[in-house]
Amino acid sequence: MTQIRNNEDFATSYDAVVIGSGPGGATLALKLAQANMKVLVVERGDYFKPDETIDTNDFLYSRVKPGEDLFYVGGRSKFYGAALYRYREMDFDETHFEAGISPAWPIDYGEMERYYCAAEKLFRVHGSPEGDPSEPWRSEPFPHSPLPNDPLIEALSVKMAHAGTPMAAIPLGLDYGDKGNCALCSRCDAFHCRVDAKMDADVAALRPAMATGNVVLATRTECKRINLDPTGQRAEGVTVVRDGQTIDIHAPIVSVSAGAPHSALLLRQSATTQHSEGIGNHSGQLGRQVGGHSTGALFPIMSVARGMGQRHTKTLAINAFYEGDADWQFPLGVIQVSGQMPFWIGANPLKQPVFKIIAQRTLTVFHMTEATPDEDTGWAFDGDQLGEFTPPRHQARSYDELRRRTIKAFGDAGYQVLRPNRPVEYWHLTGGAVMGADPAQSVVDVSGQVHGVDGLYVADASVPPTAAAVNTGLTIIALALRTAEKIAQKQGASSAVLV
Ligand SMILES: Cc1cc2nc3c(=O)[nH]c(=O)nc-3n(C[C@H](O)[C@H](O)[C@H](O)COP(=O)(O)OP(=O)(O)OC[C@H]3O[C@@H](n4cnc5c(N)ncnc54)[C@H](O)[C@@H]3O)c2cc1C
Ligand code: SF4
Repeated sequence: MTQIRNNEDFATSYDAVVIGSGPGGATLALKLAQANMKVLVVERGDYFKPDETIDTNDFLYSRVKPGEDLFYVGGRSKFYGAALYRYREMDFDETHFEAGISPAWPIDYGEMERYYCAAEKLFRVHGSPEGDPSEPWRSEPFPHSPLPNDPLIEALSVKMAHAGTPMAAIPLGLDYGDKGNCALCSRCDAFHCRVDAKMDADVAALRPAMATGNVVLATRTECKRINLDPTGQRAEGVTVVRDGQTIDIHAPIVSVSAGAPHSALLLRQSATTQHSEGIGNHSGQLGRQVGGHSTGALFPIMSVARGMGQRHTKTLAINAFYEGDADWQFPLGVIQVSGQMPFWIGANPLKQPVFKIIAQRTLTVFHMTEATPDEDTGWAFDGDQLGEFTPPRHQARSYDELRRRTIKAFGDAGYQVLRPNRPVEYWHLTGGAVMGADPAQSVVDVSGQVHGVDGLYVADASVPPTAAAVNTGLTIIALALRTAEKIAQKQGASSAVLV
C-alpha cells in the first residue's frame, strides 16, 4: 500500500513520519525510504486537479488570493518556476549590506557541494556556468545541458551580450530532452504542469519514494501536534486529523517539513511543560530570522504591433551584478526573465484589457536582492496562532541600483522598458526554525535536529539561515538530503543513502 485510503489503513507506528510533501519533506522521505526505513508522509492538501474546462485554472494566481497559502501534494513546488540554483560561495559567509548583515551559516559551501550535486541529479537540472561570474565551483558538471532559448530570447541574449551584459542560462529542473515529456510550453512558471514534466517535489521525489514500497502517503491529513516523551527530550510521534478523526501515530523520527511559516507554527502549537513557548523555542527564535528576496518587476517591450504569441521565455538570467563591484560595494542580486503569465487575471476588470495588451507584448523580468534576516524579522505568535509579521530587511539602495542597472542593460540593447510603480514584494521566504551551532540563537542544530530533542528534525524552507539572492529551492532540497543522510547514519543504515 502506498496511499492511505481509509483511516483504518494507518499503522500504529512507522520508522519515521514526515509532515508535508514539499521539496524538503518529499526529498527527505525518499532518502529515508532508500535507507530502508518505513515512512509515513502526512500532507494536509490533496493532489491538485485543474478544471480542464477553464483555460487558466491551473495558473496559481487564479487559485489563491494574496495572503492565502497553497496546500497540495508537492507543496508550493507544484506551481514553482523550477529555477534551481546553488547558493553562491559568498552566501555562506557573513555579508554586510547597507542596512543589515546576512549572517554566516554554520556550514560552508564545501560541505554543501556534494548534496547540491545529488539534488541537481534528482531534480534533473539543466544548466551551464557559462556567462555567470557568480557561479560557484562544482565537482561535477550540471547533469543536463542548458535548455534551448526560444528564438526571441536567443535574439535578446545576443543583443544584450553585444551591448556588454553577459547573459547566463537559468538552471531549470525539467524533464526535457531524450524521452522527456517537457514541450517547453509557455505555461510553466506559476502554473501546474499538465504532463508532469516539471520536476516538482511530487514528480521528482515523492513518486520515486512511494515506488520504493517503503513510503505511505496520507493526503487530506493535517498534523495538529508533535508528541514528545515525558522528559520532553525525545520525539515520540504525531497527532493528525483526517476526515474529522483524530489519530495518534508513533514514530521515533519526526520531520517537520510543513514549509515556512507552518513548521514554526506547528512547533509552537506542540508546546509542552518543558517547552512552554513551543518546541525548540528556548532561544525565542521560533518564527524568527526570516530572510527573503526583495523582488521587483520590469517589462521590456518586445513587440508593439503584435503580441509575442505563446513562448517558453524563462531561460535567461543576468548574474553579473550578484556580488556588487567597484561601483557598488554591496551585493546586488539577480535578474531573471520569467515565464509568460496572464497577470491581468485578478486585476480590476476595467484595467484587464490594457494589462492583457501589455502582457502580450512585453517580457516579464524580475530582479531580486537579498532581504536580510535578524532576530526581529519573521512571525510573532499570538497565543498559538501566527501574529504580526515583520518582513526581512529591505536593502532599498541596492534594490534601486539593481533596478536601475536592469533598465540600463535592456536600454543599451535597444529595448524600452515599462517600469510599474509597484511596492516591493518579499519572495522565497526562509527561516522560522533556522539552523545554527548555538542553541541560544537557533532552533535546529547543524544536522537539522531540533536542539535538545532527539529524533525531531526540520527539513524545509524554515532551516536556511539566509535566503541569499538566488531561488532557494535547490538549497532546501540539498539540506534535506543532508539531514536524511544524518538520520539514516544515526539509525545504523548504510551511509550510501545519496543518489
Ligand atoms: C509561483 C511560485 C514560483 C516559485 N518559483 C520558484 C523557483 O523557480 N525556484 C525555487 O527555488 N523556488 C521557487 N518557488 C518557491 C518554492 O516553491 C518553495 O521555496 C518551496 O516549495 C518550499 O519548499 P518546502 O519544503 O519548504 O515546503 P512547501 O513547498 O511550502 O510545502 C510544505 C507542504 O506542507 C504541507 N503542510 C503544511 N502544514 C501542514 C500540516 N500541519 N500537516 C500536514 N501537511 C502540512 C503543505 O500543504 C505543503 O504541501 C516558487 C514558489 C511559487 C509559489
Ligand atoms: S511542459 Fe510546459 S509546464 Fe511542463 S515542464 Fe515543460 S515547460 Fe513546464
